[in-house]
Order: sequence, then C-alpha cells, then structure tokens
Amino acid sequence: MESLKRLCVVKFSDFVSIMSEAMAETTNWGKLQTEVKGYVGIDTIQEQIRKKALKRGFEFNIMVVGSSGLGKSTLVNTLFKAKVSRRSNSAEKDQPPIIPKTVEVQSISHVIEENGVRLKLTVTDTPGFGDHINNENCWLPILKYINEQYEKYLSEEINVSRKKQIPDSRVHVCLYFIAPTGHGLKPLDIEFMKRLDKVVNVVPVIAKADTLTIEEREHFKSRIKYALNENGVSTYPMKELETDEEDENINTHIRDQMPFAVVGSDKSHQVDGKEVLGRLTNWGLIEVENHNHCEFSNLRDMLIRTHLQDLKDVTHGIHYENFRFERLNKHQKIDKAEDQESRC
Ligand code: GDP
Ligand code: MG
Repeated sequence: MESLKRLCVVKFSDFVSIMSEAMAETTNWGKLQTEVKGYVGIDTIQEQIRKKALKRGFEFNIMVVGSSGLGKSTLVNTLFKAKVSRRSNSAEKDQPPIIPKTVEVQSISHVIEENGVRLKLTVTDTPGFGDHINNENCWLPILKYINEQYEKYLSEEINVSRKKQIPDSRVHVCLYFIAPTGHGLKPLDIEFMKRLDKVVNVVPVIAKADTLTIEEREHFKSRIKYALNENGVSTYPMKELETDEEDENINTHIRDQMPFAVVGSDKSHQVDGKEVLGRLTNWGLIEVENHNHCEFSNLRDMLIRTHLQDLKDVTHGIHYENFRFERLNKHQKIDKAEDQESRC
C-alpha cells in the first residue's frame, strides 16, 4: 500500500526503481522474506547440479524428415561438425541412392564430446518419405516410431523396479525439410506437419536455400508462414507455452525469422586464413555460418546453443505427458469396464 501511495506521485525513473525493487523481492513461492546473516553456501547448488549432470552426460534425439536429396544428412553433419548421419550416396558415388519402397525409420547414435561435456546424439532418418508417386499416409511409420519411443519410456517409468535413469529415445525435435521450389508448401508438407505437431516439436526449414535469390527466399518464406497459419500448424517454439516475458520476446524473434533458410556442407575452405564450412560454386563460396549467406547459424543456435534443454523439456512436459495421460486414461477406462462386467 505504501509503495502504491508513492507510485501516485513519483517520477518515471523512481517508478522503474520501485518496480525493479519489487521484482527482485519476488520469488516463485512468494515474497522474499528471510535474510541470511552470513555465508550459507546455497550458491554451490548450481555447481553440484552441474557436476552430477556432467557425470550423467546429456542425451539429444533429432529426427530429419523430407524427400531424398534435400540435404538432410549433410545438414545434420554440418550442425554437429561430425559425420553423424551417413550420406545416401557416399557408399557408391556413381550409383543413384536406393530409395526404399516404403518409409523406413533408421536411428544411429553417436557419443560426441566438447570441453568435457558428453552428448549422446541419436539421429533418426526417414528415407523414402515423400519419394513415391503415391505418398498417402507416408507420415504413419514416423508417427508410429515417435509413439513407440513414448511407450518404451512409459513402460520403464511404471515398472516396479525402474531404472535410476530411464534411457531416453524420445524424439526431441523433428526437422522438416521443405523443398526450395519458391512456390509454396505441398499438400504432403501440410499434412505431415498438421499430424505431427501434436506429438513432437516440429521445426520446418527451407532446404538448399542457396538455390533461391534473396527476394525469392523472402517471398517463399511468407507463403509458407501464411500456409502454416491457415492450416493451424503449430511449429516449435509454440506461443501457447510461453509463461514469461523474456522467453516470449526471444521466441517471437525466432518465430518471425522461421522457417530458417539453410545451407549445409561438410567441406571446409580457407577464408581470410580461417577454415570455414561452405559450398564452392563457379561464382563464389557460400559460407554456411555466414549470416549474410544463409540462416544456418540461426537454426544451429536455437537447436544447440539456446533451446536444446527447452526442446527436451517440452518433449517431456507436453508431448510425452499428453501421450501418458491418454494412454493411462484409456487403461483406466478399460479396467473400470472390466470391473463392472465382472460384477454384473
Ligand atoms: P538427403 O537425401 O536429404 O540426406 O540429402 P544429402 O545430404 O545426401 O544430399 C544430397 C545432395 O545434395 C548431395 O549431393 C549434397 O552435396 C547436396 N546438398 C546438401 N546440402 C545442400 C545445400 O544446402 N545446397 C545445395 N545446393 N546442395 C546441397
Ligand atoms: Mg540422407
């Protein structure tokens, strides 16, 4: 009440300091009330958590979906600067890649390390998606795989003697590759994202963006955004999940730039004495990490440097939770019905 009275007469600069004072005193559990009278050591909690997490290691599971030849394997290799996804045509250079008759779901895991931090990375590829004359229901094997991973996690979780750390094979992000046609989304693109956005974090990207001019790219982007909006597709990061203003501002900025127009390459070239990943053409070098050339670094920053943990949190707290709820609810209903039947 006192601060309210002061608010009525204070200058703007004082108002800002009163507000920041009030915010600094606010915690998740209410007002900060109890002052400590000496060093307790609460600040070591962070270090304790860090040490435990480092020992445990981190897991991250990424899935790539899109027609063959859109540069999915190359992009994943570019993201992690390692050969984590096999290129379809790398085995037999003169032979065209073999396209499976139906969509296959293939996962490969690698353990990578940087500055003592270990990451178990699983890349799930979906060869055959969108490669046939009739692509009806070709999203089904992908949906089935995602749900199977939730099922595996759930059965471990409800096991009487469950593991201390449940192995996590759940897909944390699904990168959906849009062909750089410049026209708009294909019905299959919309169908896939519409079906899958409820079960997994979908991040659409414009593949092989070096094939589009700057103008074409911007035009294509706005057409894609319009189509996604019209069809009610909810891509990651989702607006509905934001609770604080800081996250909202960061994510709104990301949403404005999406879908990122990316270029991938696992070949490095010398630029001003530095090694950079890029694609050498007759008219110059396209540097994948150069902001002026493409938006690869925006995608990399979001996936790895700023939102990796959030992708995992949303997978666990939203997508897996929905699956768990539906699944356990269904079981409960069946149990009740059987119970009633046996009583009759
Ligand atoms: P995938 O079938 O989607 O996994 O595609 P690959 O990664 O095997 O790439 C197919 C072909 O496209 C290869 O010859 C790559 O060198 C090439 N490629 C990959 N990324 C890009 C890109 O960003 N731009 C262009 N122009 N070509 C690319
Ligand atoms: Mg591939």
